[in-house]
Amino acid sequence: MEDCIFCKIIKGEIPSNKVYEDDEILAFNDINPSAPIHVLIIPKKHVANILELKGDDIALIEKITKAIQNISKELNIEENGFRLICNCGPDSGQEVNHLHFHLLAGKKMGPKIIS
Ligand code: 5GP
Ligand code: ZN
Repeated sequence: MEDCIFCKIIKGEIPSNKVYEDDEILAFNDINPSAPIHVLIIPKKHVANILELKGDDIALIEKITKAIQNISKELNIEENGFRLICNCGPDSGQEVNHLHFHLLAGKKMGPKIIS
């Protein structure tokens, strides 16, 4: 989609530090990390958020899950773990309207996920 930052990253129009890529999924480091490891996992197909994921596209969640499993192995965070966040809509503070999961890791996080 035009004017979508993440679609531009997928097309290579905006550079990114890729962590994982397959036919349908891309993962790259967040430009403004909130933890020592902060990876964004996105479908290559433009879908605004999880509520817009419908029909056959729901299968992308399975692909994202497998990508996360690969990434956790690759980054050696399987044992210590990580936090996943998926913002959706204005109250969540979602800034980029292209479905993405934040994977945060590399430090001990507190019990609260909201600020
Ligand atoms: P949201 O608030 O929509 O859940 O998160 C969007 C995330 O995208 C933010 O954490 C922000 O730092 C990240 N981000 C925004 N623009 C870029 C960019 O051009 N490159 C990268 N790598 N991350 C970006
Ligand atoms: Zn997009």
